[in-house]
Amino acid sequence: MRILLTNDDGVHSAGLRALAEVASRHGEPIICAPDRERSACGHGMTLREPLRMRQVETASGVPAFEVNGLPVDCVNLALHELLPNGCDLVIAGINNGPNLGWDSTYSGTVGGALEGSVNRIRSLAISVAIYVEDAPAHFETAATWLENAWDWLTTAPLPDYTVLNINVPSIAWTELRGTRSTRMGTRTYEDRVEKRQDPWGRNYFWQGGVVITGNEEPGTDVTAVSEGFVSVTPIRMDWTDHASLVSLERHIAAFARESRVG
Ligand code: MN
Repeated sequence: MRILLTNDDGVHSAGLRALAEVASRHGEPIICAPDRERSACGHGMTLREPLRMRQVETASGVPAFEVNGLPVDCVNLALHELLPNGCDLVIAGINNGPNLGWDSTYSGTVGGALEGSVNRIRSLAISVAIYVEDAPAHFETAATWLENAWDWLTTAPLPDYTVLNINVPSIAWTELRGTRSTRMGTRTYEDRVEKRQDPWGRNYFWQGGVVITGNEEPGTDVTAVSEGFVSVTPIRMDWTDHASLVSLERHIAAFARESRVG
């Protein structure tokens, strides 16, 4: 089994190394990842700059290539240049930080996995849900979970263009309560933009903010992880809101009738 590994934390990150160790036990992994941290780039891709790829040594010992781009760039370059005969699985991660709820849409980790699915390859995104800055990331818990779940993850019935977004609570393996299949929760922030002044009195801004908690519904990824479960959320490329499509059609038709009468 040929396995392409990527991430948005950079080719030398500890989470990618932990992922490579698991993947090595199940097939022939190859790493193609950004040359530096590129978090929150979503499904973005590089169009206006030349991309360069070069082989690098990483602690994982797996063949590894770095790209001066984003996870989507890495997946596409790898499939074009490194895996001319295709590959069987794309895994993005193990991300240092949660990719839960609406944050999934900002996630470069999820973006990399989505690009695998665009190429009709089974794709997974896996993240360690660590909430406190500088708290230890339990990559080993996520790696052990992945090792245990490998067989069902790689055989789960998934249509084309659907990926699994996995979040593992950053706790010890023995504290993990289990696994839940989940839907995407909400995750909203307050104080999103912080305005500051530089020494010359000019304004500058940082984006970040504080997650608003306490309004989560059962069945979501956010709730599962907060209760100590691994969340596995199927997400898909098709963003269409199918319910709204029906009501929109009716609405447009009603206006068309009115304007004919008028
Ligand atoms: Mn990241």
